[in-house]
Amino acid sequence: PGVAPFVNEPAADFTQAAVRHAFPKAIARIRREFGATHPLFIGGENVVTGDVLDSYNPADVSEIVGSVCQAGPAEIDAAIAAAEEALPAWRATPVAERTKCLFEAARIARSRIFDLAVLQVLEVGKQWDQAHADVAEAIDFFEYYGREMLRLGADRRMGRVPGEVNRYRYRPRGVAAVIAPWNFPLAISAGMCSAALVTGNCVLYKPSGLSSVTGRVLADLFVEAGIPAGVFNFVPGRSSVMGDHLVGHPSVNLIAFTGSERVGLHIMQMAAQVAPGQRHLKRVVAEMGGKNACIIDDDAELDEAVRHVLYSAFGYQGQKCSACSRVIVHEAIYDRFVPRLVDAARSMRIGPAEDPACVMGPLVDRVAQQSVLEFIDVARAEGSVLLSRMPDGGPGGVDASQGCYVPLTIVEGITPEHRIAQEEAFGPVLAVMKAKDFDQAIEWANSTRFALTGAVFSRSPAHLEQAARDFAVGNLYLNRNCTGALVERQPFGGFAMSGIGSKAGGPDYLLQFMEPYVVTENT
Ligand code: GLU
Repeated sequence: PGVAPFVNEPAADFTQAAVRHAFPKAIARIRREFGATHPLFIGGENVVTGDVLDSYNPADVSEIVGSVCQAGPAEIDAAIAAAEEALPAWRATPVAERTKCLFEAARIARSRIFDLAVLQVLEVGKQWDQAHADVAEAIDFFEYYGREMLRLGADRRMGRVPGEVNRYRYRPRGVAAVIAPWNFPLAISAGMCSAALVTGNCVLYKPSGLSSVTGRVLADLFVEAGIPAGVFNFVPGRSSVMGDHLVGHPSVNLIAFTGSERVGLHIMQMAAQVAPGQRHLKRVVAEMGGKNACIIDDDAELDEAVRHVLYSAFGYQGQKCSACSRVIVHEAIYDRFVPRLVDAARSMRIGPAEDPACVMGPLVDRVAQQSVLEFIDVARAEGSVLLSRMPDGGPGGVDASQGCYVPLTIVEGITPEHRIAQEEAFGPVLAVMKAKDFDQAIEWANSTRFALTGAVFSRSPAHLEQAARDFAVGNLYLNRNCTGALVERQPFGGFAMSGIGSKAGGPDYLLQFMEPYVVTENT
């Protein structure tokens, strides 16, 4: 009642001069704030620790965006105590009030959308349009989960037997640990945290060390939006120091995680062990990897397909779990499609995300750079390289050594047995696979252990229908790119080894953060 229907926050409209000018101004403004040390936030208080981690600009590793205090086991214990103390009151807070905090967070984020976007441009190397889209997605999560909780907060009457009233309702699970990635530094954090909060849980939020200045900004947003002390705690820290302590803590009831398959599996193992004093089974919601394919059928509209595949594969340097890392091309159009794809990729400008002319930038840090370079060596050994491009150097060009660049790489001659057809790269490496027909293309698309996203470019209704039935992924896109799912319109998430739990931005997501129960009254 009184709440307007959900609509997605609009994308940045760069045809508007005001929008174009807002970015450089915000870049200058945010840069002036660089160099600060950001404390933890526990039980409503800032907490300074001796261990501090620098977060740097991946386009110029000498530029420190900010330093962030790191939690150890003692700070985790303090945050858990604060969360447990705050829990009874927060749980008892009417749904309408909890929801109001999310709507308020949305309003504040909207009023600062350029500053929030620009911080990502500089902290994780995200292009202007995509950084703006990330903030818009965070706003969407606040608005959507707020409305979802209003829907789920009402009792549901079950059964029709006279003399009996059955009420089906939900209670929060308790203390939630949110362990978030750097690649959608605001959106995914905001989504997992707001889902946990609006359902009545108290949160310990651990952002990635690579995006923890953005993480701190999210903490400030929740405080400003009226989330009470102890309900939301900001506890960045080194996984090696506090990760297991947090996940294994007997008081943690729920772990919401988005990140690598390796870490996700470790969390599931840890969470399955019952610690002394633990009085519940832990639930894990884990969004992990992908090895996503775009299929190009023999009658595909090739100009469209080229554009969408490039965006899916190289947008944000391929650092999305939804990114396309395999393009499976019908052999009948292989010689027409592949050279066009490579030519178009050759024209993509590579350089700092800060420069809007650059459509691809550096990877997020030196560690990612090293591991993707090793992956590219495997690609070179397994296939033949069609394109390998670094930023243009020379006068007025980019000094690639300052940033975490790897070459944009396209490799052909790949079949499902190859490692680069099976392992997630999380970088700008695209494997080209030549299939003899559409059936084989679908079979190959399904030949990995992942099932996250996929796309099919075809004009054949029968093939599109076949894909809808047989291409086994959580998010299938027909005749469009395979990244950029929107809250509510494309609830996002996969199955198989891509993760466990139900779709983010979808109608079942909040249910994972609550326990259903039934009250039966004999009347
Ligand atoms: N939701 C994002 C998309 O659809 C991907 C999220 C991720 O990479 O974790 O592109």
